[in-house]
Amino acid sequence: MFKSLDISENEVGKNAQATEEVEKVKCLIIGSGPAGYTAAIYAARANLSPVMYEGLQPGGQLTTTTEVENYPGYPEGVTGPVMMEDLKKQAERFGTDVRWGMASKADFSGEVNKVWIDDNKIIEAETVIIATGATAKYLGLPDEQKYAGGGVSACATCDGFFYRGKDVAVVGGGDTAAEEAMYLAGLCKKVYMIVRRDELRASKVMAERTVNTPNIEILWKHQTKGLFGDGVVEGAILIKNKGEVGEEEVKIKIDGFFLAIGHKPNSDIFAKYIDTDDVGYINTIPGTSKTKVPGVFACGDVQDSHYRQAVTAAGSGCMAAIDAERYLSKKNA
Ligand code: FAD
Ligand code: NAP
Repeated sequence: MFKSLDISENEVGKNAQATEEVEKVKCLIIGSGPAGYTAAIYAARANLSPVMYEGLQPGGQLTTTTEVENYPGYPEGVTGPVMMEDLKKQAERFGTDVRWGMASKADFSGEVNKVWIDDNKIIEAETVIIATGATAKYLGLPDEQKYAGGGVSACATCDGFFYRGKDVAVVGGGDTAAEEAMYLAGLCKKVYMIVRRDELRASKVMAERTVNTPNIEILWKHQTKGLFGDGVVEGAILIKNKGEVGEEEVKIKIDGFFLAIGHKPNSDIFAKYIDTDDVGYINTIPGTSKTKVPGVFACGDVQDSHYRQAVTAAGSGCMAAIDAERYLSKKNA
């Protein structure tokens, strides 16, 4: 379940250096989630001497969760932070150089691909593996933070299991919300969908399925004002018909509050050089991790709008390292 992340500005600036330094590396990995670490394990074992920059969230999204029960190899489950420490140790064991720092700019226009770290160091990389993930959007309510780890989640597939037989709500009316609501409907007693308009944005087929699922109740034209509960979520306060005649406050009793209002892939600094979809997910050549720039590969949630799971991220990290290794072998043959 979600828990807040606390990284101070001072730590971010730790790597700051006065002069612009240039370093050449064989394989640069940007991001330290399951995708980045798996890419690192494979790249290190293939003698690519990978250098990884961890970014502002060392260990990635799973460091914001408690139990992970669906990652293979942990029969008793594992906490997200412990799992990510394990992955880090495994990557370091084979020689990955894991560093604190944030990729702040990229230039893939020349013969050599360049990435700036914290705006002051340039890495010239023979191969670049982008594993920067995607960030779930939140409504921005103080209660989302207050009940982080206590009933607020942005991942039904991850956390739905903890709400078996209970009542929950999903915010949003797009395909993700419809998918999450249907997933939760299979586990929970009742699922409210909190939709701010009088129609769903979801595709027709998904919308129809959602409307026809007996234990999903759509609360049309409702917006969330806040959550309540003693330490954990026990309910939500909604506003119906906000700003219109008949505006009223409504309370629902729920144990879980799931956000499904979209994700933001962390691809902005690369978007000038590589193709992305409308939302910003990096387009890779189907069945590979290759972007349209030779030597630049993408893996994990930053290129995956569909699955967004640790195991799929890890799998695509493996693909990226193998693609990078084969790219270098061919180039240097
Ligand atoms: P992320 O884990 O998002 O990691 C991205 C990395 O990129 C981070 O280290 C970040 O610091 C770094 N980064 C970003 N921008 C930059 C930059 N400019 N420079 C350098 N580094 C950068 N999945 C499951 O399979 N099971 C679960 O139980 C589960 N629970 C979840 C619970 C929660 C609350 C959330 C939010 C997600 C959960 N997920 C779960 C989903 C899972 O966490 C993601 O699918 C997975 O972490 C994606 O891995 P990734 O490596 O692509 O990206
Ligand atoms: P999306 O299509 O952008 O939908 C976001 C939903 O959240 C919309 O209903 C939006 O309401 C609502 N929303 C946004 N901000 C809100 C706020 N502050 N308060 C309340 N509601 C808010 O995002 P998505 O559902 O994540 O889908 C992203 C893309 O992935 C889409 O192209 C989608 O088709 C695709 N996708 C496809 C599948 C599938 O085919 N199975 C599954 C998942 C996702 P409004 O409608 O009022 O703007």
